[in-house]
Amino acid sequence: MRKVEFHHRLFLIALCLAALARAQSQSPAQESGKQIVIRASTVLDGKGRVLHDTRIVVEGPKIVAIDPKAGPVDYDLRGLTVLPGWIDAHVHLAFSFGKDGKNGSDEGTPHEAAYHVASNAWVTLMAGFTTVQSVGSPRDVPLRDAIANGLLPGPRILTSIEPLSGRGEQTGTPEEIRAYIRKEKAAGADLIKIYAAGGMRQGGMTMSQEQLNAACDEARKQSLRTLVHAYREAVRAATLAGCAQVEHGLGATDDDLKLMAEKGTYFDPQAGLLIETYLKYKEKYVGTPFFPKTLEGFASMEQILPMNRELIRRAVKTPGLKMVFGTDAVAGAHGRNAEEFIDRVRDAGVDPMAALVSANSLGAEALGMADQIGSIAPGLQADIIALDGDPLKDITAVRRVVFVMKGGIVYKNTARSAVPAYAGVQP
Ligand SMILES: [Zn+2]
Repeated sequence: MRKVEFHHRLFLIALCLAALARAQSQSPAQESGKQIVIRASTVLDGKGRVLHDTRIVVEGPKIVAIDPKAGPVDYDLRGLTVLPGWIDAHVHLAFSFGKDGKNGSDEGTPHEAAYHVASNAWVTLMAGFTTVQSVGSPRDVPLRDAIANGLLPGPRILTSIEPLSGRGEQTGTPEEIRAYIRKEKAAGADLIKIYAAGGMRQGGMTMSQEQLNAACDEARKQSLRTLVHAYREAVRAATLAGCAQVEHGLGATDDDLKLMAEKGTYFDPQAGLLIETYLKYKEKYVGTPFFPKTLEGFASMEQILPMNRELIRRAVKTPGLKMVFGTDAVAGAHGRNAEEFIDRVRDAGVDPMAALVSANSLGAEALGMADQIGSIAPGLQADIIALDGDPLKDITAVRRVVFVMKGGIVYKNTARSAVPAYAGVQP
């Protein structure tokens, strides 16, 4: 009886919260058709162009005009750098440190675990990321839907739900693999994540060319994109199989990079944040599955950093190769996604504008959403952020996100030099 009462009360609270969230998710502009005008001195349009002294007009969830004469001004963002909200092509929102502080350990009750995932989404949005591709957990699904329905603040989420993990012959016959892809589609997957290779430094392919061909071909037939975790020879195999995007890519040769460029395969390598996170939190990662058993063991991980930078330097020099922005954000990295821009520009020879565009219009193109997000232009979603500083001159400005609008709703608008440091997400 007490339990029933308790649940009843919880239900009432949930109803109130839902009503509140719905009220908050409807900005005044959406109710009345009123326009919101943002004044800016510097706008990066997401496609590589810089606009000066202009105004962005927002109505409901969309940008309706770029008009220097529009008024009255609702948000004066002069002195800041205004740009489209960022897109992270590869995160794991479901990965958190457990109750004992360790990676992947017990997160407590389902309620506690759910708050972890919601918190990861919130800090990601606060860091300027308005869209993320979360690759590989059924826990992404209710979060994706709650955010889309305006019940929780967070980035727009695309999810692969369960990945297709290569296990040699056990992965299945081509027909079984095709059936698996169709099952993921039916479960609401926005894309398919495939593990086609072992670890960063060693291990061969975990799927045959024939299996990969079946997976990526069936996904294409189901209008789903494929993201393939690949190293060494798996990079070429995924490219030949017509998969949409190659993740990580250590061990790719110049010829592999060239082939990706020729076939229009998107490439998503990681310059630093992932490994930096493992090293920064090695006490939390040590001894957990797939990680070194001793702290000394993490020294070998440091050697991967220069390997990744060298790969990206070669990728930059490969004509026509479409390199998108994906951090592989794991426990400890959520909300620090923008560190990857700094790694790419400072350490891996990427031009600052190219790095930013990779998380804007190019990232949107890779998602098949270029007509909705990734640029500041009429007709697109009003996903607009502002940085305190000029990232083209000092890339560390990406840490200072002072304004975040997603779909026409302002989620963050802080005074300059007062960027809140959320728990655990300091650079
Ligand atoms: Zn990953």
